[in-house]
Amino acid sequence: MGFNSSSSPEAYHLAHVSEAETDQTPQDRREALKQVFAQASVCVRCQELAATRKNVVFGAGNADADLMFVGEAPGASEDEQGLPFVGRAGKLLETLLKEIGLERKDVFIANVLKCRPPGNRDPLPGEIENCREYLYRQVELIQPRVICSLGNFSTKLLRDDPTGITRLHGKAEDLTLGRRTVRLYPIFHPAAALYTPRMLETLREDFSRLPELLALPEPQQDALEEIPQAQASSPSPVGGETRASAPSGESEGGEPGAAVDQLGLF
Ligand code: URA
Repeated sequence: MGFNSSSSPEAYHLAHVSEAETDQTPQDRREALKQVFAQASVCVRCQELAATRKNVVFGAGNADADLMFVGEAPGASEDEQGLPFVGRAGKLLETLLKEIGLERKDVFIANVLKCRPPGNRDPLPGEIENCREYLYRQVELIQPRVICSLGNFSTKLLRDDPTGITRLHGKAEDLTLGRRTVRLYPIFHPAAALYTPRMLETLREDFSRLPELLALPEPQQDALEEIPQAQASSPSPVGGETRASAPSGESEGGEPGAAVDQLGLF
């Protein structure tokens, strides 16, 4: 289950960190995350999404966060601003965070897809496949202790299993992703709770357990099997195919580094 369970070895060529990477300081990891952001910003792996997006929504928050949220895909507001969860679902996420004493700057928020599917349609399997490398690199570099998957898409992707969120929400499990073991904690997607009071109640209850999960000792980091050299190194660029132009935040006379500021790293 998790990152190591694919039948296709090449699908994981970025899913592992080398020995040197696991020794990186938080600052090194943050710089590496910026590079992944720059690569994702020009990704054209999904032709339709690349042609219709306004911005790549890489993720935002604390690059050294203990808690990471993974949603589904950007919506219209996120696409407009280049930031995740800035619409109504995001406001609810912020409220729930506040109720447990946290703010956006304490956590890292990302999505399964970094680009908005047109009309907010569901992500397609090929798009999830194209984009998952970015998410895996984010997890490896941020090294969260707890990953909260929001709803079905991220839960199924990270568990590599079709079991749905209704059965899994509120149940933490340790999951080995690349060379790291993290605690996965699936919960309902805030967008689903916006219109269903009972779901909101459940989401709130599940959320209230987060502080105790975060206070637990870090999951045991078992020594994993030796990773073949070809898999341990990061081919460049991350996105494989990239556009020749600069990231959207820098394209039209933007200040150098503007795109990285958009990342919202604290
Ligand atoms: N829903 C998501 O899954 N992600 C966002 O960024 C916004 C809404």
